[in-house]
Order: sequence, then C-alpha cells, then structure tokens
Amino acid sequence: MQRTAHLDRLYGGLLVDGFDVESCHSRYQSAMYRRNPGRRPSPYLISKLRRHEALQRRCGPGTAAYSNALEQLKSGKSVASPECTYILSISYRGIGNRILAAASAFLYAVLTDRVLLIDPSNEMDELFCEPFPNTTWLLPPGFPLTDYANFSIDTAESYGNMVKNKVIRSDVGVTDDDVPTAAQLPAFAYVHLNYDATIEDNSFFCGDDQRLLRRIQWLVMRTDSYIVPGLFLVPAFQEELDALFPERDAVFHHLGRYLFHPNNHVWGLVTRYYDTYLAAARQRIGIQVRVFGGMPDSPELLEQITTCTQKEGLLPEVLPAAGEPILPASRARSKAVLVTSLKSWYYERMKSMYWELATATGEVVSLHQPSHEEFQQSGARSHEHKAWAEIYLLSLTDVLVTSGRSTFGYVAQGLAGVRPWVLYKAANSSAVPDPPCGRDVSMEPCFHKPPGHDCRLKQWADPSKDVPYIQHCDDAIWGLKLV
Ligand code: GDP
Repeated sequence: MQRTAHLDRLYGGLLVDGFDVESCHSRYQSAMYRRNPGRRPSPYLISKLRRHEALQRRCGPGTAAYSNALEQLKSGKSVASPECTYILSISYRGIGNRILAAASAFLYAVLTDRVLLIDPSNEMDELFCEPFPNTTWLLPPGFPLTDYANFSIDTAESYGNMVKNKVIRSDVGVTDDDVPTAAQLPAFAYVHLNYDATIEDNSFFCGDDQRLLRRIQWLVMRTDSYIVPGLFLVPAFQEELDALFPERDAVFHHLGRYLFHPNNHVWGLVTRYYDTYLAAARQRIGIQVRVFGGMPDSPELLEQITTCTQKEGLLPEVLPAAGEPILPASRARSKAVLVTSLKSWYYERMKSMYWELATATGEVVSLHQPSHEEFQQSGARSHEHKAWAEIYLLSLTDVLVTSGRSTFGYVAQGLAGVRPWVLYKAANSSAVPDPPCGRDVSMEPCFHKPPGHDCRLKQWADPSKDVPYIQHCDDAIWGLKLV
C-alpha cells in the first residue's frame, strides 16, 4: 500500500485517544491517508486543548451549568461571575465559509475560556464528527434566542450597535474601580464580523472592547471569514497565541485537523474515491477550479490552468499532435490529477488533452473529477456531503492548485499542510493573467475583510505595517494573512 509514510494517528498529540472508533472512522484513520504528516503541534497547544475539552464537558449541553446559563439568558440579565461562558457560531454560506467561521470561533473560545457551540443549520450537524469527547458542540433545540440565525448588521443587540448607541461603553470597566455592574451589562451580545462589519463592529478586535466582552456570558458570532489574523492584533491575546502557535503559519492547519473530521458517510465518499482513483499514483495533484453557476466555460481559465501547471513543472507538457514520445509511457511515473469544480468542462478538456497527446516526459497523467454539481446548493444534504468530501480529497493530494479568494481551497490547503499554487483572478476575463499563478506565501487562509482601524488613535491604520508575521494576501490585496 502506498500510504505508509505516516502512522501517527493522533497527529503528534493533537487528537486525544479514547473516542469510540466506530462512531467516527476518519478520526483515527485519516493520518494513514496523508503522505504529508504536517506540522507538529506545540506541547502548550496540546495541553490547552485537553483543558478546553474538559471545559466543554463541564459546561456543555446537558450539564447543570448549561441549564443555569440558559436561565440567565432567558432572564435577560447578566450575572456577576458566571460559572461558564459561551460563544455560538452561526453557520451560513458555503461550506468553506462555515468551516473557517467555526475554526475562528473555536480559537476565540480557547483564548477566552468560552464553550463553543455550533449552529447546526446548513447541515453542520450532518458533516462532521464531534470534536470534543463525551459532549456535543452542536447547539441543542430550544435555544431562547429563537431568531439568532437572522441576526444581522441591524440587530440592536449587536456589539457594534450597542457601542454606537451607548447601550454599553467600552471605556467603562477598563480599570478595576470602574467596573460595570452586572446589571449594566446585557446577558448576551451578537458579534457581527461579517464582510459588511462597521467600524464599531470591528472594535471587537480592540483590547478595551475585549475586556468588556469578557463580562458578557453569551456571545453569538456571525462571520463569513477567517478572522484569526485579527485575533493576533489584540494585545491581550498575543502572548497566549505565541505560546500556542510558535509557527504562526500553521494555525488553521492545527485547528482544522483538530476540529473537522468527516462523519462516516462522508469518509466513505473520501476513501472509496481515493482508493479507486488516487492511491496508486506516484504523485497526486489537486486542482480546484472555482466557478459560479451562471458563468460560461472559459477557454482563458483553461489556458491559465494548463500554463500554470506546465510552467511550474506540476504537470508535463504535451508533444505536438504528430509528435512521438521520447520515452515510452511508464506507469511507474504516473500522476493522478484530482479536479474539483461545479462544472465538468475543464476536467473534460484536460483529460482529452492527456489522452490525445503524448507527454514530453513519458509520464502517465490520469484525470478524475468526483462530481459536477453545476450550481451551489448550500444546505442540500447530498450536495454538502460531496463538497466536504471533495475538500477533504484535495487535502490528501501532494501538490495543490487553488482558485484565489476561495474559502473552499483555503480549507483544503490548511488540512493538507501545503502552500498552494494560486490561480490569480483575471482582471479581464478575456485575458490569461501573467503570471497565471503564484506560490502562496503560507498555507494560512486569508482574512478577506480585516479591521483597518487603529484602536488607540481611532483612525485608519494598516496592521501589516507593524506586525511582521501578518501580510496582505496575494489573492485579495486588502486581506490579511499569517505567514
Ligand atoms: P467559496 O465560495 O469559494 O469561498 O467556497 P464555499 O465552500 O464557502 O462556497 C462554495 C460552495 O459552492 C461550496 O460549499 C459548494 O457547495 C459549492 N462548490 C463550489 N465549488 C465546488 C466544487 O468544486 N465541488 C463541489 N462539490 N461543490 C462546490
């Protein structure tokens, strides 16, 4: 069997032993499928995860602490020293967005000792195994904030609106003799960190605001992005983040491998496909072609993909039509290409090219695409299963080519632990970008809409100027990423 390289099924202690193996095959099998063992988690991250698991068990659904916290939420009043505090992550948009939102909320929960709860909608309860032993991370039915899934920029209880309307004040409670009483604080706040967040919403990333937020028992968070680089900007979190992640370019890599285990059905989709089409190849190349339902097939994008993969030496060039191969084709030098896309055209064209023409190197190139769903259908069960299986299959390849600005690709590269080749978005759809792709500076996802506001000076500021391990993203120049 090809997949021998890595036998550490717990990923260096990132995962804990003792889960029921039958309930989640992927948890302890996935390492067998990975040629790239990935980065090692720091001992401090491992110990912090074990402590967090204990917190989730002590305060999670079904416990007395959870019932008490729900009563408190129903009463609408804050309590001085709550036994447990919570953050609920809203699940919306595509699966890539939802995974990045959950990972972001989890890191925030770890940093602030909150219990993480996941909104089960959009099939979030049908895709993953439970990450924490002997408890659930899914929000149970009957949550008192019945309308939470519709919370938006206009919600009166959003932290940004409460600050703007002076319902709460972040400059109160900064010193110990200036602490707001519990009665001055709401039982919950909605944290709106969506693409359309206002300056007040983004004050979430400021130290004084974090001191205040700490005192609110329930937070509900909506984000469609990977807000983790923003957490690295909060001074109060920096020391802890340094200890947790001495390698700052591997934050999502560890969070992702810790949290997101395909459930048994999705794992069946992954392993059957992998074993049938990818396992035997000497090298596997994943190409993620992010297109949208209404877009016509684009010869320019096809050319961008073939130019990128051939110029960078990821796939062999082909000989002209009448060309004779220099070397006989050899199965020992085979490359399997996994294409994922909503459309089949790109895959069909590449497959035809490598059938009709010989490769210049004599390598055998096979192409495979698991599905072509044509349109995004977020929330439809079988569609979601396929999307998650395809992200996971991409993460099992050795080399990745991704579409710029796609959270689908970000999740795959983080789980894989590889820096992808990124297909840049064409400024003009009738031209092939030059260069067609570039190697990403890190495997971290990009935070597309980061705060651009200095907390102290209250004016626009570029955080990438002051923090050496945060850069603008190549695929979204206004975004920020950890490197
Ligand atoms: P993003 O929009 O590219 O950032 O990625 P998301 O995952 O958040 O949203 C795109 C959604 O479209 C996915 O969740 C899928 O539902 C669908 N989709 C896009 N590309 C693919 C693909 O290659 N394969 C499958 N099966 N679904 C896809």
